[in-house]
Amino acid sequence: MFRKTIVLLNLRSNVLQLRHNSSDVGFIGIGNMGTRMTTNMVNKGLKLKVYDIDSAAARSVKGATPVNSPKEAAQNVKVVITMLPDSSIVREAVSGKDGILEGIDKNGLHVDCSTCEPKFAQELYQFAKENGYRFLDAPVSGGVTGAQAATLTFMVGGDKPNVDFVEPILLTAGSRVVHCGNSGGGQIAKLCNNLLLAASMTAVCEAMNLGVKMGLDPKLLASIINTSTGRCWSSETYSPVPGLMPNVPSSNGYQGGFQMKLTAKDLALAQSTALSCGAPLPVTGLVHQLYRVMMTKGYGNKDFSSVYEFFQTS
Ligand code: NAD
Repeated sequence: MFRKTIVLLNLRSNVLQLRHNSSDVGFIGIGNMGTRMTTNMVNKGLKLKVYDIDSAAARSVKGATPVNSPKEAAQNVKVVITMLPDSSIVREAVSGKDGILEGIDKNGLHVDCSTCEPKFAQELYQFAKENGYRFLDAPVSGGVTGAQAATLTFMVGGDKPNVDFVEPILLTAGSRVVHCGNSGGGQIAKLCNNLLLAASMTAVCEAMNLGVKMGLDPKLLASIINTSTGRCWSSETYSPVPGLMPNVPSSNGYQGGFQMKLTAKDLALAQSTALSCGAPLPVTGLVHQLYRVMMTKGYGNKDFSSVYEFFQTS
């Protein structure tokens, strides 16, 4: 009887402690995107637990509580979000030691905002179902500038009620949440967008490099392109030419944006996805090969707009 009372008291104090420690969001992966997304979430009043393998990164988010594992990040939250480099790292965060699986509540929700293969998202969806919790794939577009301005678009695959549930939370870091159908649908949309982004950024670098090498003023050429038919997101909001725009990676030594190795990963995923349905991706193949050459020359950690620098110095 005595033991039972102690157990009950312990249980009660655990529940109180849990309530006391409860947060809206557990966020895993505080990198170029995660830092900005979590900062916006905190600034809009959400209570966050944050985890990164680099503890200094987790500590850098003002107003959030750093924790020591994905397990802790997943405990007693409305949603646990991953924003990690690739699927092998997401897999480790989910089912590795002290992973999300060990901490997530029954019927809890895991939202993966990393860019991964559609079939990996479907695998995670099934895994979540078998283990009594819910899963959505929700990769984002908008880059670090969109993450900074909280104007990201979330492309979401999975069950609609879960999308509706998490939408108000995602909208603290973005301006649009689009349900793309079944699990994996968000990742398919994301890969389509990113192959187009990589191709258009490479084409902008090619055009600007030609014009500058032929003696045109880059500012003048950019202004012409941006009022002409060649205009696109890369030319208009993310110029690859240093000094033309403030707050973009090209004006900061190509640091702090979308690392080429991550863009290259997306192109590889697009190609393996295209193989499964027979869609041709000739332009993507060409851009991917260019990236792979650049990565052997030390460009892997630089922003993907550094193609311009590579052309200028080749
Ligand atoms: P990043 O490399 O800047 O950040 C990733 C973070 O994950 C780093 O802080 C790293 O320390 C952390 N990390 C690595 N392994 C970990 C582990 N095992 N456990 C916990 N944390 C770990 O990458 P990013 O640019 O923020 O991109 C994150 C994801 O978002 C990628 O999938 C990328 O493709 C996608 N994405 C990036 C952009 C962009 O413009 N940077 C835009 C859209 C989507």
